[in-house]
Amino acid sequence: MNATDTTLRVGDLELEADWARWSWGELAAFWAVVVIGQELLFFVLEAFDRATSKRIPYSGKSLEVLGWKDWAFVYFNRLSVPLMTYHMFWYAFSSGDITWKVEDIGLLNTLGAVVAYYIVYDLFYVPFHAFLHVRAVYPWVHKHHHRQAAPSRGNTDASNTHPIEFVLGEYLHLVAVAVVAQIFTPHVISIPIFVLVGGVMASLNHTRMDLEIPHFFDTKAHDLHHCIPTCNYGQYIMLFDKAYGTFRASHKPAEEKKVN
Ligand SMILES: [Zn+2]
Ligand SMILES: [Zn+2]
Repeated sequence: MNATDTTLRVGDLELEADWARWSWGELAAFWAVVVIGQELLFFVLEAFDRATSKRIPYSGKSLEVLGWKDWAFVYFNRLSVPLMTYHMFWYAFSSGDITWKVEDIGLLNTLGAVVAYYIVYDLFYVPFHAFLHVRAVYPWVHKHHHRQAAPSRGNTDASNTHPIEFVLGEYLHLVAVAVVAQIFTPHVISIPIFVLVGGVMASLNHTRMDLEIPHFFDTKAHDLHHCIPTCNYGQYIMLFDKAYGTFRASHKPAEEKKVN
């Protein structure tokens, strides 16, 4: 790609990659595809939620009714997602750090890259989240998300955060990809997998579904954070909480000791 050629070529298909050159109609169509796409994903997740019988018992107080501010935040945040989506695409397209070639696809630059993204994401997210809990900062941003002590609405409860927190959390995905891309060259396919699976995991964390991938992901961890905010600061994995000593597996520390 030279300075003026911003054409994305996929087989015979040619697309203009620079959205500064898109028409208003193309911009609106892009926005709609991302927003409607995520709504469809949440619809599927809600159906899965209704069909799942293994549930996390309620321990905190549920925020039963969402007010106008909750819905304003949820929809502002959902509408902001195409912005990060585009900037992620533009980074992958224009930086030269990401390979798009089909023949380059391997295990390390796809699956390995996705695992690395989650580790790097939480490496930054844990101190960011802990900072949001600092007494002087907490009331201004993160308190809104913690009005819900027993999340159950999936993505609606996950997106019910102050927009500053949400947008920074979204762009942290871009930071994670850029950091990993300085270590080795990821394949572009790893990026939508990271973002989509990440969106699913963050949504599952705010349901009552008891789901676990041993040593990687457990919905009970974030549910416990909503109840006991001094533990489990990770967004996706609990690796750094375990490293920093802030991980907690249950409400009863005495029982944890017995098990360990
Ligand atoms: Zn939460
Ligand atoms: Zn928190």
